[in-house]
Amino acid sequence: MIIQIKNIKRTPNGPLEQLYLENDLILGWNLEQSACLELDGKGGLVVPAFLEPHVHLREPGQTEKEDLESGLSAAVAGGYGTVVCMPNTIPVLDDPGILSSLIRKAETLGLARLRPSAALSRGQKGEGLADLALLKEAGAVMFTDDGRTNEDAHLLRRALEYAHSLGRIVSVHAEDATLRKDGVMNEGVVSEELGLPGNPWAAESARVARDLELCELTGARLHIQHLSTQQALEKVREAKKCGVNVTCEVCCHHLTLTDESLRSFDAMYKVAPPLRTQADCDALLEGLLDGTVDCLATDHAPHTLAEKERDLLEAPFGIGNIEVAFALLYTRLVLEKGFPLERLIGLMTEGVAKVLGWAVSTLEPGMPADLTVLDLETGREVRPLEFKSKAKFSPWAGETLKGWPILTLVRGVVAFERG
Ligand SMILES: [Zn+2]
Repeated sequence: MIIQIKNIKRTPNGPLEQLYLENDLILGWNLEQSACLELDGKGGLVVPAFLEPHVHLREPGQTEKEDLESGLSAAVAGGYGTVVCMPNTIPVLDDPGILSSLIRKAETLGLARLRPSAALSRGQKGEGLADLALLKEAGAVMFTDDGRTNEDAHLLRRALEYAHSLGRIVSVHAEDATLRKDGVMNEGVVSEELGLPGNPWAAESARVARDLELCELTGARLHIQHLSTQQALEKVREAKKCGVNVTCEVCCHHLTLTDESLRSFDAMYKVAPPLRTQADCDALLEGLLDGTVDCLATDHAPHTLAEKERDLLEAPFGIGNIEVAFALLYTRLVLEKGFPLERLIGLMTEGVAKVLGWAVSTLEPGMPADLTVLDLETGREVRPLEFKSKAKFSPWAGETLKGWPILTLVRGVVAFERG
């Protein structure tokens, strides 16, 4: 079956063109060809669908927060064609059977492609290694105990070596839990004024330092998740200069919000690692520009409204953000700070592919028909009640953003169309 997407642009100032798809692949541009289905790109910019290295889909076990269908619907609404889900479900994704059934279920949904990560330790308990070889065979694309920190350095070393021998990466939530202690927000001027327990920058950078040593020691590929502090970022920058085999990601909320938001005492702003200072936001942005940061992530971590309405000490860490991620970054970084659009898109597509060792997609014939059309012109309000995610609330509710995905195709099939 041949599909034509008309009225799309390859560059923001380029001419309107037509792209043809055949089955799940790109057929070519501006062909003299009849199509079974015509889609209208409405003058939007077409890009390879975004790749997301870090989401929490909560299935199995916590489907009141999110499930495969709601989470993968939210992903395509955010312009993502592929997501890597985290294994901190109930039960934990440390079992090949559960992993493969999750992949099979996702395939029947026809939404974003699911490429799950698996636990690095059994039950994410940090005691014994999970069976990484069987998990890889079942479809695990990386190993992580995210949701938990890796307190046992010896176990992490073994995981790095084992995963490396399987051609897989290990990704870490790099935070020293003994130093973070019961911190619920960034430790600094604001936490002191509010009288709330703080989580110091050193909890992140101390753990990053240790993990970089393990990366160098083993020669294995390490990926550091959701970097939030200038100090930890600097450690990664130095390590990369010395040839250490490390990559890292930064999340959209750490680039656009600071600990000042916590003055509202609203647990909506309670995330792990915590929102830091403006100086940290600025440093992370610099890291995106100079290549220290390899890719962007959402760390989409939905909870129920009842949970997030608890007070700051009790509420769980995490927010849902996958549906606003691109519009948020396009508006705040590209439109307001002059960040290069091409770089932003690269950090959400090929940057992620390179971290995970996947082929990089382009818009050339023969490439997968996983595409997103972005409306860069129309300002739209963030309306959480319209989210596909079960987490129908957002730190950005009511803000007007540009850059909304209007059409997402996965495997050449329309997975999302903005009404
Ligand atoms: Zn994490």
